[in-house]
Amino acid sequence: MTTAALLPQDAALVDGVLARQRRALAKTITLIESSRADHQQRAQAVLEQLMPRSGKSIRIGISGVPGVGKSTFIEALGMDLIAKGHRVAVLAVDPSSSLTGGSILGDKTRMELLAQREEAFIRPSPASGALGGVAHKTREALLVCEAAGFDIIIVETVGVGQSETAVSGMTDVFLVLQLPNAGDDLQGIKKGILELADIVVYNKADIDALAVELACSQMRSALHMLRPVSKHWTVPVLMTSATHRKGLDLVWQTIEDHRRSMHENGLFEAKRRRQALAWMWALIEIGLEQQFRQHPLVKAELATAIERVTAASITPTAAAAYLLGCLQK
Ligand code: GDP
Repeated sequence: MTTAALLPQDAALVDGVLARQRRALAKTITLIESSRADHQQRAQAVLEQLMPRSGKSIRIGISGVPGVGKSTFIEALGMDLIAKGHRVAVLAVDPSSSLTGGSILGDKTRMELLAQREEAFIRPSPASGALGGVAHKTREALLVCEAAGFDIIIVETVGVGQSETAVSGMTDVFLVLQLPNAGDDLQGIKKGILELADIVVYNKADIDALAVELACSQMRSALHMLRPVSKHWTVPVLMTSATHRKGLDLVWQTIEDHRRSMHENGLFEAKRRRQALAWMWALIEIGLEQQFRQHPLVKAELATAIERVTAASITPTAAAAYLLGCLQK
């Protein structure tokens, strides 16, 4: 099973990525993000060449509401990691960009220090498409960054909708950044996100030490109630001050502990395999829906079916069966 043949100009892209050239890396990601069918074919041929050289990085997901301090945190952590000899790529999944036309995470002025470093690569979220499509392109960009020798990939997302699930599905460890709001109980915190978290971090701990202590202990008991106790990993609740660069060492050490624990318990490879299969199925679903919507008979019949279901003159089951049947004709 192979994809399209590699064009000569794309062979140069592959060589450029493997030689760690930023221009080739950026151009390859642009090709991946293009929605043109011929670009998609070329992108697949390039990716096929790069796949054997990917997979070696530490993939870190980071989520939190706008203003929690994600970019300050990622910049501080990224600079520390570069000082330790790592190469750090930062990617983003921001479904809001397709809704609002402006991206919460795509602002070029974010992470200015990190952006200037040769050992760092920062790429904003693909600017259009549904979440499934955006996440898919970020996943592929992640593989290209790995092939370009980045050994740490941070995938950032805003705390809205389903984007956390998508990011935790493409990373090894998932960090949730929280704010220690005074008087905030845990009602407001989305249960779904905490179920995904491997590490919870309260940022802005410098503002009110007492509030952050209280928030941490409330969070620990909430996690204890929410999540089945795993013999392999108890979700740590940490505190940082990204602006003062405090607490970041412990965050990194905890990420390494998590990784070690996954490897020791045989969970690491299993998680990556599970993620690859889930990715394939997600693409099949996207592809099937596209085929369905583009089918001439479906196109001709869909409006009437919607009208009749809305008017309750036909059941949704019958309408769905009829429209799916159109695919066979
Ligand atoms: P993002 O929207 O999640 O990326 O948040 P930013 O990193 O842009 O931070 C939002 C604001 O919070 C900025 O003004 C930061 O300087 C500030 N900030 C970030 N981290 C901290 C922190 O640890 N302590 C304090 N006091 N302010 C912080």
